[in-house]
This record gives sequence, C-alpha cells and structure tokens, in this order.
Amino acid sequence: MTFSPINDNLARPFQLEQSALRGRVVRLGALVDRVLTRHDYPEPVSRLLGELFVLAATLAGGLKFKGTFSLQVRSTGPVSLMIADCTNDGAMRGYAKFDAARVAALGDAGARDLLGDGRLALTVDQREEGQAYQGIVELAGATLTECMQAYFRQSEQLKTGLKIAVGRVEDHDRPRWRAGGIMVQRVAEQPADDGREEQMEDDWRRTMLLLGTATEAELVDPHLAPERLLLRLFHQEGVRVFEPLDLSFGCRCSRARVEVVLRRFPPDDLEDMKEADGQLVVTCEFCNTAFRFDEPELARLHGKPH
Ligand SMILES: [Zn+2]
Repeated sequence: MTFSPINDNLARPFQLEQSALRGRVVRLGALVDRVLTRHDYPEPVSRLLGELFVLAATLAGGLKFKGTFSLQVRSTGPVSLMIADCTNDGAMRGYAKFDAARVAALGDAGARDLLGDGRLALTVDQREEGQAYQGIVELAGATLTECMQAYFRQSEQLKTGLKIAVGRVEDHDRPRWRAGGIMVQRVAEQPADDGREEQMEDDWRRTMLLLGTATEAELVDPHLAPERLLLRLFHQEGVRVFEPLDLSFGCRCSRARVEVVLRRFPPDDLEDMKEADGQLVVTCEFCNTAFRFDEPELARLHGKPH
C-alpha cells in the first residue's frame, strides 16, 4: 500500500475562539524521514532528534523572524549534542553527537537517560540585524517536552500545553519516520478580575484535557490531516487556522563556506587533517555532504603558488 500523506511538513498556527488560546499544530513526514534515515542513528537517538525537530518547528512556526531559529541541547549524557534548526523559509536540518557504546548499553532509553544533565538553548540568528536572541534552560523533567514547558514557564511566563510524538509508520517498502505535535499557549494578558481569571482557568483546564486525549498515533497519522485532528480534539472550542509555515529539508552548507573555515587554519594544521591519499575531507554534520580538497586546492586557499 502506498499512502499519499496530506498536509505534511508544516507548522500551522491556530486559535481557539472559545478561550482565545493560541497554538500550533506541526506535522513532519518526508522531511523527518529523510533526516533520520540518512543519519541512521540508533533508534533512541533518532526518536530524540525527531522530538527536537517537532519542537523546533513548533516554536519557529510561532515566531516572526528573518534568519534561523535553532534549538540546541548540550549534555553530559550519552547524547552530548543535538541541534535542530529552521529558517524563516521553513528549511530544517539537524544532527546529534553521541557516544555509541553508552547509547547501546542503555538499550531502550528515554530522554532522561540519554541526556543526563545539560542545557537547552533557543537561538534566533537574525540575518539582517545580526543579533542573536538566546534563551537557555537547564534540562529538567523526563522528556524534552517537559523541558520545553519548563522553559516557557520560567523564561516567558507562558502557560504551555504540549503534546508531541515520533514514530514509524509502515509504507509499501519500509517503515517511514513521522512526527507531529500540538502546542497550546495562554498569551500573557493584563491582570484580569477574579471572575475572568476563574473563567480563564476553566478554559485552560478544559483545553488541556482535550489536548491530553490526542494519541501518538493521531499525531503522526499520514491519513489524518493536522487540521482535521484539531477539529477532532477541539470542535466545540471554535478552531480557527492560519497560514502555515511550509517545512522542507534544507542545508546551508557549501564549498565556499567550508573554504572560509579552512582559511582560518594554519597550513600545518591542515596538513595534519589530511587523509592518507593527501586529500582533506570536510563532511557536513547536518547533511553528510563531503567536500574534498586536494593539495593544489589547499595551497590555493592560502594563496600559495603550486
Ligand atoms: Zn550540509
């Protein structure tokens, strides 16, 4: 059986008219399958990176920015580094660095075991203004979702409901990675009077109960459009959806960028980095593209005649 996924690879903002709560629904199909299949990490690492992709898409889908939004996890655990980033055009990429032996020793591990102590950083690199906004939170809780919620509570004082899922769905030739999520937030308001505050609390509790009924299978279901899932969950709340951010895989590496980096190294260092055949190979960690430089090219980088 071949499925033709509907409305995949997007982050769509929405509002619940009944309660004025806002959110985003995210669905990742071919994009996350391509990333996780290419990297071919151990299963628990793939799942964790898939979750980071959903979170990055969820956050980027709610921001106004020109440049790159990035989520980065650094930890003392078996997975020492994970990055997922997303441009304002919706180009996403990411990778993980990990100790394969430590990951294997854990077996079927969750975020807490894989990450240990560490930090989650949010960065917005604005191409034009050049300034980077950065928010940081200590890793806390059993999952990346809990960590993200803690970030919003501490840094932005935003009540955040979040449910995400990463899974593999059988296709005709092989199981394919899929991921999805829904975030609902209560936007900070003027202090409300007591009656209004109570109403807002009721709205929040009701919405969280409804969000809690979303199953992992629904969040990644290739036959269930994300908008239909919203209606299924919140049909009595008056769902209004807005233009989505369309997402796709996109790496920004290039030979020219690698050359800029290599020029910063002294020639002796480059000499040490060469492989047995005299070539220097730089592999992009995001997309695994290998850039090869032979001796004349390396000499040219340092402006030497050859
Ligand atoms: Zn690349």
